[in-house]
Amino acid sequence: MTATDSAKHQKSKALKPGSRRPAKELCSECGLCDTYYIHYVKESCAFLTQHIAELEAEIHGRSRNLDNPDDWYFGVSQNMMAARKKEPIEGAQWTGIVSTIAIEMLEKGIVEGVVCVQNTKEDRFQPMPIIAKTREEILAAKVNKPTLSPNLSVLEQIEKSGMKRLLVIGVGCQIQALRTVEKKLGLEKLYVLGTPCVDNVSRAGLQKFLDTTSRSPETVMSYEFMQDFNVHFKHEDGSTEKVPFFGLNTKELKDVFAPSCLSCFDYVNSLADLVVGYMGAPFGWQWIVVRNDTGQEMLDLVTDQLNTQPVMSQGNRKEAVQQSIPAYEKGVTLPMWAAKLMGVFIERIGPKGLEYARFSIDSHFTRNYLYVKRNYPEKLEAHVPEYAKRIVGQYKLPEVYSNPK
Ligand code: FAD
Ligand code: SF4
Ligand code: SF4
Repeated sequence: MTATDSAKHQKSKALKPGSRRPAKELCSECGLCDTYYIHYVKESCAFLTQHIAELEAEIHGRSRNLDNPDDWYFGVSQNMMAARKKEPIEGAQWTGIVSTIAIEMLEKGIVEGVVCVQNTKEDRFQPMPIIAKTREEILAAKVNKPTLSPNLSVLEQIEKSGMKRLLVIGVGCQIQALRTVEKKLGLEKLYVLGTPCVDNVSRAGLQKFLDTTSRSPETVMSYEFMQDFNVHFKHEDGSTEKVPFFGLNTKELKDVFAPSCLSCFDYVNSLADLVVGYMGAPFGWQWIVVRNDTGQEMLDLVTDQLNTQPVMSQGNRKEAVQQSIPAYEKGVTLPMWAAKLMGVFIERIGPKGLEYARFSIDSHFTRNYLYVKRNYPEKLEAHVPEYAKRIVGQYKLPEVYSNPK
């Protein structure tokens, strides 16, 4: 960061809470505009300027190889594996690999703080981003807040605190903005630990999803769209409720996802050093993508606490994806008995491991491509990255008519 940057920061002012953001209804509330880094919003915001390939080259030393379909799907990577903690952290989203890496980095003095997101006292799903400086603060941020979260709203505190080594945990849209302003933060080293992310919602949208889908919305602690084609809701009493994907009320839920997330093509968090999700791994395991040497350095800190196995891939997703496209467009909802039957059938013969991840990416990218084409036709060409165009290009899409917002 130069003296000129510092002066610019002094002059810029965060937007007031609740005021309209530069990306308008496409804003994913990443938090950048809650800080004086709004000065850089035009080039940083994932919904105003899409420049993933350029940032990949800067951060990982190369952008996706467009001749390699694995790169289209999973981004730049050095290594992938399935892993789970030998001793899982109770109450974590999966086995707590993310929280464990953050704790090791802090306690070994590799970083001075960790940007992560806790929830407010009043509402377990209301995100509250913090810079954690203790193990307890990191653990209090475990488990997904399945809502848009302004993680970058704490960026001003970094420059003010004089911190030089930082770990940021976040999802794709947050990380794209972060990477664009990285050099303006005054850090010596930034580490980025990402999770995949899809179908996120506002707090109000989340309530509608829970009310429409769960038998007991008020006791839901967390949920996940699992590889067995069911949504698993974990309840306060320790029980798990399973609702088949194919039984979801698509018509009711069509508007529930945030416009940002219906326009998002960075499911796999392309710009993180290390990504920890689940969808490329067998059921019960987490999926790890190491994108660069920094990511490997982060993973090495916890390998003695993990069981690992190589990634696998089984089945063929293409037919199922092709059939789901018009069904989603028409808002088809199956009766629950048929949805359960279909879930069991697909789980038996359906895509597994990396092929399941491809299934999920294909289904979401085709849906999102049609959403952008319909609502933001003028943005389509520049906003959809080349790798996503190649993914979508494998399918026959229905004709949609533009209805610009
Ligand atoms: P934990 O140790 O429980 O830590 C979770 C970390 O996530 C915490 O550090 C917290 O700061 C951070 N976090 C929580 N909520 C948010 C948020 N809203 N924004 C930014 N950071 C947050 N993985 C897949 O493979 N496929 C998916 O489709 C998928 N969808 C996801 C959708 C959302 C909205 C989110 C937040 C994550 C999604 N993930 C997905 C990632 C996955 O659910 C787990 O978060 C990941 O595997 C880490 O699990 P863990 O037990 O190691 O995390
Ligand atoms: Fe600002 Fe982030 Fe919203 Fe873009 S997504 S307008 S950078 S808060
Ligand atoms: Fe951001 Fe995309 Fe996740 Fe929405 S789906 S919160 S836009 S990374």
